[in-house]
Amino acid sequence: KHEGRNTYRLFRTEMNAHDGRQLALESALRDTVESGEGLAVHYQPLVNRDSGEVEGAEALLRWHHPEFGDVSPGVFIPMAERSGLIIPLGRRVMEKVAEQLGEWRLAGLSPPRVAVNLSAGQFWQGGLVEQVRELFQQHDLPPGQIGFELTESVLLDRQQEAVGLLTDLRELGCRIAIDDFGTGYSSLSYLQDLPLTTLKVDRSFIQRLTGDEGERRGSAAIVAAVTGLAQELGLRVVAEGVETEEQLQALARYPVTLIQGYLTGRPVDAATFESRYLGCRVG
Ligand code: C2E
Ligand code: CA
Ligand code: CA
Ligand code: CA
Repeated sequence: KHEGRNTYRLFRTEMNAHDGRQLALESALRDTVESGEGLAVHYQPLVNRDSGEVEGAEALLRWHHPEFGDVSPGVFIPMAERSGLIIPLGRRVMEKVAEQLGEWRLAGLSPPRVAVNLSAGQFWQGGLVEQVRELFQQHDLPPGQIGFELTESVLLDRQQEAVGLLTDLRELGCRIAIDDFGTGYSSLSYLQDLPLTTLKVDRSFIQRLTGDEGERRGSAAIVAAVTGLAQELGLRVVAEGVETEEQLQALARYPVTLIQGYLTGRPVDAATFESRYLGCRVG
């Protein structure tokens, strides 16, 4: 009992230090969102498995703070979601992406479609469709130049309303991907009910495809089922988090359209993405 109490006290102290850092981080994030300083969007290629061509990219937000250094999205995105900062932050991401795509196109380059991650707060904020439409106009982007990635949990809470919103986005040509597929709800019926285009098989399944014997069998069954289902429904399949040749080999037997992972390309800043993947100018 006595020991228990000491442990408790220690735990409290750590909690307080942790809370203090969280508060400081959150306040720093608030300033950053206002000024826009220290925020950058990186781009990770999505590569067509058969042709090897870069058919798309995912926009991934990066935050560098003078005091805290590089803060991982795994830390600051959940924080932004809890505090509501995700709405202005997400708007900045979309603006940056639209601006960058417009710039590339003006320079005579042909950037691929870029997918932006949407948190629940952003998706349900109201005015999202108008925001997207305006950005397309402002930067003279062709329909569908920007698309979106959402997780199941965002959509399934209010599925009827989601259909309406997604339909509006689809009318702007936007592709809609279900992110981290397989890690959320187990219901599959929504795949048929929502106007989706793409299914992203979560990294955890890809990684376990080359794990030990037991893992391998289980995840192979899941990947087979999920990719087969997607194919039947006419959805494109992205394999997320492919890191090794061995994993790529293991995927060979499944109907996967696109590969995204460190093997085919890490997320890189816009200038690097341009020189690496948008090489030659048109005309
Ligand atoms: P996500 O949407 O699932 O993004 C994919 C994550 O996997 C990225 O992490 C990416 O860097 C990482 N990744 C890609 N290939 C590989 C691989 O081969 N191996 C491994 N181990 N990882 C790989 P990142 O950039 O740290 O982002 C983490 C999460 O933060 C994202 O997960 C997404 O949920 C969220 N996020 C990032 N940017 C934004 C944003 O602009 N808006 C919102 N709402 N969320 C964002
Ligand atoms: Ca994503
Ligand atoms: Ca993902
Ligand atoms: Ca995720």
